[in-house]
Amino acid sequence: MTDFNATQTLFSLPDGMTYLDGNSLGPMPVAAQDRMAACLQNEWGEMLITGWNKAGWMRQPRALGDRIGRLIGAPAGTTVVGDTLSIKVYQALASALELRPDRRVILSDSGNFPTDLYMAEGLVRSLDQDHRIETPAPEDVTAQISAIGDDLAVLMLTEVDYRTGRRHDMPALIRAAHEVGALVIWDLAHSAGAFPVDVAGADADFAVGCTYKYLNGGPGAPAFIYVAPRLASQVQPALSGWLGHDAPFAFDPDYRPGPGIDRMRVGTPPVLQMAALDAALDIWDQVDMDALRTRSVELCERFIAGVESTCPDLTLATPRAAAMRGSQVSFRFEHGYAAMQALIARGVVGDFRAPDIMRFGFTPLYIGMNDVDRAVKILSDIMANRLWDQPEYHARADVT
Ligand SMILES: *Cc1c(COP(=O)(O)O)cnc(C)c1O
Repeated sequence: MTDFNATQTLFSLPDGMTYLDGNSLGPMPVAAQDRMAACLQNEWGEMLITGWNKAGWMRQPRALGDRIGRLIGAPAGTTVVGDTLSIKVYQALASALELRPDRRVILSDSGNFPTDLYMAEGLVRSLDQDHRIETPAPEDVTAQISAIGDDLAVLMLTEVDYRTGRRHDMPALIRAAHEVGALVIWDLAHSAGAFPVDVAGADADFAVGCTYKYLNGGPGAPAFIYVAPRLASQVQPALSGWLGHDAPFAFDPDYRPGPGIDRMRVGTPPVLQMAALDAALDIWDQVDMDALRTRSVELCERFIAGVESTCPDLTLATPRAAAMRGSQVSFRFEHGYAAMQALIARGVVGDFRAPDIMRFGFTPLYIGMNDVDRAVKILSDIMANRLWDQPEYHARADVT
């Protein structure tokens, strides 16, 4: 069991703030401050270049990958951290396409996060081999898999839709794609740390994700990539950087991929960011993922019930069935941007996604029932009294 009252004390949140945006950027673990200070002082400051060996910096991408592996059902030695999620999407897709040289279609969906699709577009352009990217509505993906059949190279999906919070049926989609001989890439940006994931059990080929959302690794924390063990020694890295080489310090003029998942490393790892992520993962080591899911569903249901009974102008955009949701709840409202600004001004922080989605992330590690009740109360006050309709709440900032 996990004591969620105890985990709340492990995060630094400003007094009076109800933070429902951990699906976008997790809050700072209290221990991250000392961990980063120690890394700066004792490691970088004292050890300088010897830190790569003495402080284990060079081994960190694998060690952190293994700790994330427990949360996503990946066995030890199959996950590594580094770079950004956009880069990891590119790597996974490039490798998957190379494993299916006779097939031309990359199937995703219209709810995927734009950067995943942008990275695919750029890759297709530089490959210049007539690949096509198809993006049907999320509910039509299964039918498309069988329609495309043996021209389907790769199914590339984000498990939880960043706007609506709708969750795909991962095991069923993997089975359908494998049946036609395609490979599958899952983006776990809104899954890792949101609920239990089992990439190995579901037989995913590749999985990628970021560590600054539910995992609380801090802004700019490195992404992760998982490659199924049966493929890890076959994949050819498109981003063949020196730290993915079999012997980086042999300084061989020719590239030779490293063993297994090591070949998905590219360049120098972000040591300071990894220190913060390491502190965040100390918290995750104590978390029972099934208990987390149970609590997350309770928080989401209470929020949905509260908002639906007090805010008739808001329409639920997230599926009503808990099994079809991640750990966020979204409501549509024509003036959602202004309403969200009014909420933030009153200490309830969620965010907005165009054209009309108000998003609220529910993260049991630091959000309790009292936070849900407070958010509902303030939101219903804003809606009932049109408090959102003020000029200052309509002006758009760069990041929404
Ligand atoms: C947040 C998110 C990203 C962000 O990619 P970065 O390279 O880390 O900026 C990519 N894909 C999905 C599905 C996301 O939710």
